[in-house]
Amino acid sequence: MAGLNIEGIFAKIIILNHRQLFFQHLAQTSPAPLALHITRAFGCTLWDAAGKTYTDLIGGISVANIGHSHPYVINAVKEQLEKYMHIMVYGEMIQTPQVAYASKLCTYLPDNLNAVYFTNSGAEAIEGAMKLAKRVTGRPNIVAFNHSYHGSTQGALSIIGSEYFRNAYRPLLPGITHANYNQPEAFEHINTNTACVIVEVVQAEAGVIAANPQWLKMLQQHCTNNGVLLVLDEVQTGFGRTGNLWAFEQYSIVPDILVLGKALGGGMPLGAFIASKELMDSFTENPVLGHITTFGGHPISCTAGLAAFEVLLQENYIAGVEQKQQLFLSLLQHPQIINIRYRGLWMAVEFSSFAVNKQVIDNCIEKGVLTDWFLFADNCLRISPPLSITEAEIKNACAVIIDSLG
Ligand code: PMP
Repeated sequence: MAGLNIEGIFAKIIILNHRQLFFQHLAQTSPAPLALHITRAFGCTLWDAAGKTYTDLIGGISVANIGHSHPYVINAVKEQLEKYMHIMVYGEMIQTPQVAYASKLCTYLPDNLNAVYFTNSGAEAIEGAMKLAKRVTGRPNIVAFNHSYHGSTQGALSIIGSEYFRNAYRPLLPGITHANYNQPEAFEHINTNTACVIVEVVQAEAGVIAANPQWLKMLQQHCTNNGVLLVLDEVQTGFGRTGNLWAFEQYSIVPDILVLGKALGGGMPLGAFIASKELMDSFTENPVLGHITTFGGHPISCTAGLAAFEVLLQENYIAGVEQKQQLFLSLLQHPQIINIRYRGLWMAVEFSSFAVNKQVIDNCIEKGVLTDWFLFADNCLRISPPLSITEAEIKNACAVIIDSLG
């Protein structure tokens, strides 16, 4: 303990105690969580309880698109906190934060996406989208894709494209078909019994696998021909991640229902499914209250989300995405890097195995750069930093990654 004063010793005891309590009293989701004890986050930097800093290369998994703790967001939240937090279940009261954010979002979306249903999370937004499609079409079936990720609730789990993750939780929702992404044979599953097709524009947890533009256009055409609703999950791709505000802009298609989450809340919990007013109105009758939630669209979440959206636009972060992407790509060169799949500031750096990837990730964390792997691509290192990441931070992080390869 040489060199530690009494305060330092107490600080160490508190840190150790928190670690123990974390494992004892918080439900765990894996045998080996990262278990970093983060006490502060600002911009692209995280601080742990011992004062060590980490460059955040994953942005809370594509949440902190404008960086952590932006002062404009914090001030907006503080102002709203002084006015009110929860007052009534979703949909009954006119709440300025919800109205302001929904209206703003709609001005940045195609005309048919003009009604926003706010939820608490991405998975809940997926649930709402599935219900809306069934309610509007009166049809029982849903087509989703192998290696897709849409959330962990029972309905969302039913449509994710991984038998490993689904299997223990059967029975799942009936009427779901999993087709192969980017394969024309997928169209064969779409027919007049299909309520909707749910698809990611870029498959996130498969390790940044982008839709083939022609395929996605044909998928939409098959939906239109069969009266099927096209649901795009842009939970990870939204808010500039891929270099456009919405990834679907790169494909010249428009969904019937758009699902958002993650960066939508500016660091607070928020999801949304967005459709036309005409479709959305079907929740109002037969049955009335067709989709309800106590906390969905929480005023603090909507305030934070709106403020973060304003910052994203005002700071023009999206305009800088391509140049930063190029910088990453030029610096991430090493014989052990087999491939890099990317869309904007979102990359899957592929290694030969999980073992190699894990070693790199562990070394990076040791050296103060936070990254991880993808759910369905554990040999790929995840890069999805705040879009506000600086050139210097990129250079430093890439040097650490390359150095971690030995
Ligand atoms: N869709 C996609 C593409 C996602 O990446 C996620 C979360 N990783 C979800 C849906 C579910 O969002 P949440 O975790 O907020 O429920």
